[in-house]
Amino acid sequence: RAKQEGRDRHRFFTAELQAQSARMLSLENALRQALHNDELHLHYQPQLSIDGRRLVGAEALLRWNHPQMGAISPAEFIPVAESSGLILPIGAWVLRTAAAQMQAWLQQGMPADTTMAVNLSLAQFNDAGLCDLVATVLKETGLPAACLELELTESVAMHKPAEVIEVVRRLRELGVRLAIDDFGTGYSSLSYLKQFEAHKLKIDQSFVRNLSQDSDDQSIVQAILGLAHSLDMLAIAEGVETREQQSELQLLGCDEAQGYLFSRPLPAEAFEAWVRAWQARHAETASPV
Ligand code: C2E
Ligand code: MG
Ligand code: MG
Ligand code: MG
Repeated sequence: RAKQEGRDRHRFFTAELQAQSARMLSLENALRQALHNDELHLHYQPQLSIDGRRLVGAEALLRWNHPQMGAISPAEFIPVAESSGLILPIGAWVLRTAAAQMQAWLQQGMPADTTMAVNLSLAQFNDAGLCDLVATVLKETGLPAACLELELTESVAMHKPAEVIEVVRRLRELGVRLAIDDFGTGYSSLSYLKQFEAHKLKIDQSFVRNLSQDSDDQSIVQAILGLAHSLDMLAIAEGVETREQQSELQLLGCDEAQGYLFSRPLPAEAFEAWVRAWQARHAETASPV
């Protein structure tokens, strides 16, 4: 009987794996068309000072709306884009689109110290053309380098730290800013972390979720903040959904926050409307940003 069960389990897993790889293959084929068919879009999520009074930037987040399959989550299609190499043309499009959008916003009066954050994946860091691409995009869009913030996850940063540090050094020479995303979920070497000279650490949302109740999470966040500040980095908390989380983070000394409490990621026009409404709300109590 045990043997039969083992065989059934094996068959079950094989069937599941086949279904999974079939889905990935069809996603890969669909993703190949997505760029040309205008199915990819960017949403923008505001980033605020921890008191919620100053807009410090926006993060560009990729969205895919397939005509038949509907909205597909980045958590599902980014890995497909990475394994197929499609992340290179898609990532270049993201960079161009986000930079052009930010430059348009600056010209419409967004403060010059606001940043546009763009996520980069490992394949992009391993691509020899990354620095040229960033330089070209800055030149073509006219966006000041200091307004562009490139996010790499902690695991990408630590994958081949020596190589990544070299790329990061060249990026920094261009004048762009650097943020380490999902911080706390990987295994950072502190000596490498120091060499990255990133501007910002993004505290992963898994530490923010239960912050008000969980004293371990409070300790972890406190330690991350201490690390960030002693290395002259700013810290931003991701996934801030409640006032309680915001005030706990403020008490702990976190600099900035991003999350549904302020806004979900929004299409460009809705983002502009959000900024106007938010400014109007704050104009009542203080001078607008
Ligand atoms: P990430 O860069 O860590 O982005 C934060 C994720 O948290 C986003 O998910 C965002 O929508 C979500 N989020 C923001 N505020 C809240 C909140 O208050 N609560 C909760 N529960 N979630 C919140 P999203 O947009 O699904 O993106 C997932 C991941 O996909 C991103 O994680 C990033 O790693 C990747 N990704 C998205 N766009 C791009 C891109 O253009 N290029 C690359 N390479 N990766 C991307
Ligand atoms: Mg990010
Ligand atoms: Mg993150
Ligand atoms: Mg993430």
